[in-house]
Amino acid sequence: MNITKVESEPKLIAFVSRVPAAEVEQWILILNKLLPDSDVCLFDSLTPLQKQQCTLAVVANPDPEELRQLPNLKWVHSTWAGVERMVAELMVAGSGVSFPIVRLVDPALAQTMAEAVLAWTLYLHREMPTYRMQQANTQWVQLPYIGASDRTVAILGLGKLGAHAAKRLQVNGFRVLGWSRHKKTLESIQTFAAEDGLETVLSQSDIVINLLPLTNETRGLLNAKVFGQCKWGVSIINFGRGATVNEGDLIASLDAGLISHAVLDVFEEEPLPANHLYWAHEKITVLPHISAPTNISSASKIVANNIREYYKSGLIPEAVDRALGY
Ligand code: NAP
Repeated sequence: MNITKVESEPKLIAFVSRVPAAEVEQWILILNKLLPDSDVCLFDSLTPLQKQQCTLAVVANPDPEELRQLPNLKWVHSTWAGVERMVAELMVAGSGVSFPIVRLVDPALAQTMAEAVLAWTLYLHREMPTYRMQQANTQWVQLPYIGASDRTVAILGLGKLGAHAAKRLQVNGFRVLGWSRHKKTLESIQTFAAEDGLETVLSQSDIVINLLPLTNETRGLLNAKVFGQCKWGVSIINFGRGATVNEGDLIASLDAGLISHAVLDVFEEEPLPANHLYWAHEKITVLPHISAPTNISSASKIVANNIREYYKSGLIPEAVDRALGY
């Protein structure tokens, strides 16, 4: 944590974003209620002098050019958990944008994601894609029942979201394996790290769930080589970021039967273009990025609390490691 002097600063906070206007309005309204000693203002409404005075910004997918027009920012608070786009865009924008980026860490979001992980794991575990297809073909075929304890589920990424999701699956009877950069200790969950750890995890898992952030290291990580390390007939769930999956390799592995089904919630381009191959692929379930939407009510309290603490103590909350990208 950085400590910085704040007593004499004006408490003007810029809201910088490229999200729909109704959402922005809601954020500004709630934050101004929660922070009565501050003035949270839409970037476009700031005068040139106010832009100079701003030392703090709350951001939601911000335009880096607008952030550059706030030269005295000490830090920014993102309302999103994933900040890879912002980190990448600021790198390109170059010098003068070295302030710490604090991302949203909301226990309510971890609960929502864990619920989605359980829901779509059960969808695959109880063979729903197959039964849906059978109905379309008026087929009556009863597949043998497999118990949850006989299914191994891998969670790639054991951060704020992944660790919680792993626990939710484990208490629901699944055998869970976890993988992260540094080896983690999680009760009743076998954890692994590094490249050989990934291979061990993949070779045992029936369902592989991606909850990794998108970084230089994870971009395209789920490719033909990695799919080749999986059990034949594995299913994939991607709730992290679209670009972690190599699209061509995924389709080839589905078509070859190596992967039986993929549930995809995140895509390189969103909304997923109407002509994309994923839409019509019978082994793909497309979701419109709904696994864990930000809950403004809980998220705004966390953002406001971090800002209040900063104005009280000068402590900037833990920031994203820009070199690592998460
Ligand atoms: P986090 O707390 O930063 O955790 C990231 C995890 O990934 C950590 O366990 C980290 O390992 C691991 N990791 C990072 N790079 C790795 C690598 N190269 N190899 C192996 N492991 C690596 O992130 P989070 O809050 O759990 O969120 C994860 C991601 O979910 C976000 O970045 C975002 O993209 C996505 N997300 C999606 C939605 C949605 O609706 N679909 C909603 C919110 C977030 P260490 O622990 O060893 O550092």
